[in-house]
Amino acid sequence: MLDKVLIANRGEIALRILRACKELGIKTVAVHSTADQNLKHVLLADESICIGKPSAKESYLNIPRIIAAAEVTNSVAIHPGYGFLAENAEFADAVERSGFVFVGPTADTINLMGDKVSAIAAMRKAGVPCVPGSDGPLTSDVEKNKSIAKRIGYPIIVKAAGGGGGRGMRVVRGEHELIKAIETTKAEAGAAFGNDVVYMEKFLENPRHVEIQVLADGQGNAIHLAERDCSMQRRHQKVVEEAPAPGISEQMRNKIGDRCRRACVEINYRGAGTFEFLYENGEFYFIEMNTRIQVEHPVTEMITGVDLIKEQLRIAGGQPLSIDQSQIQVRGHAIECRINAEDPATFVPSPGNINMFHSPGGLGVRWDSHIYAGYSVPPFYDSMIGKLITYGESRDEAIARMRHALDELVIEGIKTNIPLQRQIMADENFFAGGTNIHYLEKKLGIG
Ligand code: ADP
Repeated sequence: MLDKVLIANRGEIALRILRACKELGIKTVAVHSTADQNLKHVLLADESICIGKPSAKESYLNIPRIIAAAEVTNSVAIHPGYGFLAENAEFADAVERSGFVFVGPTADTINLMGDKVSAIAAMRKAGVPCVPGSDGPLTSDVEKNKSIAKRIGYPIIVKAAGGGGGRGMRVVRGEHELIKAIETTKAEAGAAFGNDVVYMEKFLENPRHVEIQVLADGQGNAIHLAERDCSMQRRHQKVVEEAPAPGISEQMRNKIGDRCRRACVEINYRGAGTFEFLYENGEFYFIEMNTRIQVEHPVTEMITGVDLIKEQLRIAGGQPLSIDQSQIQVRGHAIECRINAEDPATFVPSPGNINMFHSPGGLGVRWDSHIYAGYSVPPFYDSMIGKLITYGESRDEAIARMRHALDELVIEGIKTNIPLQRQIMADENFFAGGTNIHYLEKKLGIG
């Protein structure tokens, strides 16, 4: 087992990692910016080090400072959490070249999956179903591009190989728009991502977002931990997640899960990962793989009983997977509401001092958050301040628990999206299950 882990992140995920380390008897090092000395995990860690000014560039994104902090504290491994440097191959490489263990896959795997064209090619080869599309990057051959689009059938979407965060893509509804769309996307992608490679795929009109969680040890063993539905989104940002996904049968789950599991073995994947799919008319279409732990991992933990962060740490310590596929049983239903410090109507961030705080509780209620009464939410980072997760024997029970847990949750002094989450939990279509990725924006009148 690893002896000492440096947590290269902040907020709720840093606390989540700290808790897992404590349970495993691993010593912890917190790194933080000057704006974050009062973060809960910083106060609870065995050691803490200030690595720079509030701006993420000067702290959580600063590779040399994080490596230096690992050196002076004699850390053995670095856990990147999500966001910041979690999917930065250069960071993973620098960590390992400096003699530390990176809690995640190798830099080569991050590169392979970070480029959407190479990721799709690898997944097609491994038998994972992908969106019908161009076979690799588009060339400047206008006639060829027209014929590819015709073969796929309009509408199509032109996407940047290096795109991310919902940027670098353009929907094309007919041939008259095609060539200009390719040129514009290419130019934008070159400027924004330093990579002007673009490709084309079928545009799915009303898909759901369904993703498969995997764990692999890089020693030939891989398992899948069922799926999550993250279709409740605003501007490509997930707002509510749940597991399992409504309407997915055990047979469908095992079929797609097994494909993902086998793909992990094929690419010699190491660590926790997520295969993201668009799901429409009963079919799964791979769109990308996230090579890190995700915000919404708790819903999977609740329905499988597997502690994903502890598994990440065990794998990083060189241990083979402690569980096999036959031990993964889906039981009950879990829902997660992301709680953000923002205006519930305008979505404008609302940092500031939390002067009153009451956390919800009771059977099947989990609150993953670093906030406390007297904590001040800094204006420099993501506005998510916590995740409320409820578990029930059935989906209806999980929703009923979420409704009362949201009523019990009191955060005063700043604005939060709790009213929006209450509205979603009261929505009859959400209650019915299976709404698509456009549903929330349409409901809010912004779609
Ligand atoms: P990013 O890395 O920016 O998140 P993704 O490839 O995951 O890019 O796509 C982001 C979002 O864009 C998806 O969740 C979906 O809403 C939309 N999208 C991407 N590809 C398609 C497609 N082929 N058809 C319909 N929507 C798509």
